[in-house]
Amino acid sequence: MNIRKELLVKPGKKVKLSHYDPDDTLGHSKGAETDDKMEKLLKRMDSLQYLMYAEKKHALLVVFQALDAGGKDGTIRHVMSGLNPQGCMVVSFKEPSSEELRHDFLWRVHKLVPQIGDIGVFNRSHYEDVLVVRVHNLVPKEVWSKRYDQINSFEWLLAQNGVAIVKFFLHISKEEQKKRFMQRIDDPDRRWKISQSDFNERKYWDDYIKAYEEALMRCSTDEAPWYIVPANKKWFRNYVVSKILVETLEDLKMKYPKPTVDIKDLKWK
Ligand code: AMP
Ligand code: MG
Repeated sequence: MNIRKELLVKPGKKVKLSHYDPDDTLGHSKGAETDDKMEKLLKRMDSLQYLMYAEKKHALLVVFQALDAGGKDGTIRHVMSGLNPQGCMVVSFKEPSSEELRHDFLWRVHKLVPQIGDIGVFNRSHYEDVLVVRVHNLVPKEVWSKRYDQINSFEWLLAQNGVAIVKFFLHISKEEQKKRFMQRIDDPDRRWKISQSDFNERKYWDDYIKAYEEALMRCSTDEAPWYIVPANKKWFRNYVVSKILVETLEDLKMKYPKPTVDIKDLKWK
């Protein structure tokens, strides 16, 4: 089975998240075999990053979105552990500042897109402008409803300019979220992560699901696909994300540039 094909949101296809099982592992099981594959994927990702840096034709933008406790931080920590920090940047998008709010919603985002040769990871992204903003009516419907097309145009522009884009929705169940919140309460090392807002947002679960469904359906395109990652099981989530990243990079068919000097003519002094 091709995991990447299986989890891809086909452009234009209607998305019903209740049809996706967050516990799914697509026939994989936890253990030595998957650990082994995971290790190989991380090594491969490291060489592909080096190749991207050397070739200087593409950048890779990786977007992570999820409901609270969906595992964005954990995925980034695991999957990026194999990468060279030089040439890789993670950006977390928080509530926009008053200056940012005086610009169009993509202004703050565009500046942080990775440069050619680099990998950029977005922990939350411009999608918040059709998610939290929509759920809480932070701008009127006439404003947010135009943003799906605006996002597609923005991502198209990036793709035309050498930025490969891949977007992951980490899909957890409401029960799993509750379990993770409880674990945070019980674990003194993780209590710092708890915020009242996480508990308030739980009340809006169904509204978020609806908003996610529309974003996934309207903004999965050939140049910037969305993947729905079953994320209740952390080991599987990490495996899926690594695998899709490696395959996305391999599709770029990158090559090392030719040396700028003729090796035969080099003279030792
Ligand atoms: P966290 O990721 O837990 O640090 O929280 C960041 C917070 O910033 C979340 O509550 C997001 O919903 C919020 N946020 C991120 N982007 C936006 C945005 N464009 N508009 C409003 N809130 C946002
Ligand atoms: Mg949070």
